[in-house]
Amino acid sequence: MAAPRDILSTFASTTPDVEYITPSSSTFEETRAIYAHPEIVPSGILRPANIPALASTVSFLAANKIEFTVRGGGHDLQGRSMKKDTVAVDLRLINHVRIDADTATAKVGGGTLAGDLIRTLEKEGFVTPVGSVSPVGYTGWAMYGGYGAYSSRFGLGVDHIVGARVVNATGEVVDADAELLKAIRGAGGAFGVLAEVTISIYKLAQILAGVVIFNSQDLDTVIRQYNQGYRVLTAAEGGLPAPLSLQQCTLNMPTPTFGVLFMWADEDHEAGKQWLERVSGLAPVVANTVKSRTPSAWQAEQDALVPKTTQGRLWSVNLRQITDEVAGVIAQYAKQLPADPHVIFDMHELRGDSPSAKPNADSVFVAREGHFAVEIVPLVEDAEKLEGALAWGQEFSNALKRTDPRNIVAATYVSFLTADEFDHDKVFGEHLGFLRRVKARVDPGNVFNNAISYL
Ligand SMILES: Cc1cc2nc3c(=O)[nH]c(=O)nc-3n(C[C@H](O)[C@H](O)[C@H](O)COP(=O)(O)OP(=O)(O)OC[C@H]3O[C@@H](n4cnc5c(N)ncnc54)[C@H](O)[C@@H]3O)c2cc1C
Repeated sequence: MAAPRDILSTFASTTPDVEYITPSSSTFEETRAIYAHPEIVPSGILRPANIPALASTVSFLAANKIEFTVRGGGHDLQGRSMKKDTVAVDLRLINHVRIDADTATAKVGGGTLAGDLIRTLEKEGFVTPVGSVSPVGYTGWAMYGGYGAYSSRFGLGVDHIVGARVVNATGEVVDADAELLKAIRGAGGAFGVLAEVTISIYKLAQILAGVVIFNSQDLDTVIRQYNQGYRVLTAAEGGLPAPLSLQQCTLNMPTPTFGVLFMWADEDHEAGKQWLERVSGLAPVVANTVKSRTPSAWQAEQDALVPKTTQGRLWSVNLRQITDEVAGVIAQYAKQLPADPHVIFDMHELRGDSPSAKPNADSVFVAREGHFAVEIVPLVEDAEKLEGALAWGQEFSNALKRTDPRNIVAATYVSFLTADEFDHDKVFGEHLGFLRRVKARVDPGNVFNNAISYL
């Protein structure tokens, strides 16, 4: 439903700390920009500057039955923080980070971006798990799962949310009780706007991190060889150490090139260098940027590998192992990587020995076993290449799903699914009944109907 603009203008002009940006505002285009869907144009954008202003905004929209979306970092690959002809509530001005060193926690505003969080934490020598790049919204990343290179040692983002202040369906600010917190940890924004989350943080000032690029003239051989060696390292006595994380990827540099993002999340960099040597021995290396650095410096290097804004979508499959059969499929489609600088293929790993890879009664995130979250991301700079890139992505995804079904994890990741792929049983499993009960309790009128949990 299109929102009546005059009501919104009156609301914003009479409510402290709320800005209303309409399509005729000079800042509309830059404010509405989201990562991958330039075609989605909202009817207007409300920007509350603090939590009371956010509460007034939700209260006003709910009372007037005006449909809205919630925008964090705008990095949902399906563009679900904005909807055509619908008001968007932009949280990016609510971006505080308050560190409590005594309890090793931080209070983080609901619109804080991962980069701002990491930069603030490292001023006091702390870090917390985040995803690969800095402009992703921290809360949007963490509340649905939150894969990333720190998860081998510390666990997923979702397991770091220890408290939440939520603006509920009537616009009140409430502290999430145990039941609501459990629901948020995996099903995210279906129950309200997360105005602030309290998260666990860790002392870690310097990491050993960078990209290892392998000779990619023969992608078939290098991808199979790397993965075979990786399986051997994993199965060896002692396995892989907790601080080590390896994210394999194929990018156009400018031709399809295979590499791994290497992360050693511990202060003992001499031990990390020994592991770097082992990883570098898995296949012939042509370049290596791994060095001791701060978490934000590593984020900046990763930022340079991905486009700032783009167009396209994502397909994902969760796999237990990168078997030789899977590596063969990856190599086949890596060789056919669409010729556009934005296309990405990569995978996160939740290692079997991660603190998050075991049952957790306080969360509804389901994929609690070691697995690889494979990301096929046909993004393009050149719109004319979109159709071909999407066809590649769809075929690649289908080919992976045709590999040994025993290797495919049933559970899927909320953030990586389109609305039509969303199967509640696979996403929430046994927690579905619980989630529907919480939804009925806290948002019976489905005010937050655009949250991607689709409850
Ligand atoms: C370049 C890129 C890199 C990525 N890297 C990773 C990665 O390393 N690991 C990983 O797991 N995922 C990754 N993702 C996926 C990303 O974490 C999710 O799409 C995440 O939901 C994005 O959050 P956002 O706030 O940026 O996005 P938005 O598009 O703003 O929000 C996503 C959804 O969350 C809702 N939302 C956001 N904030 C709030 C809030 N405070 N309260 C209520 N609802 C809210 C929005 O309404 C929307 O439905 C990546 C995506 C991109 C594009």
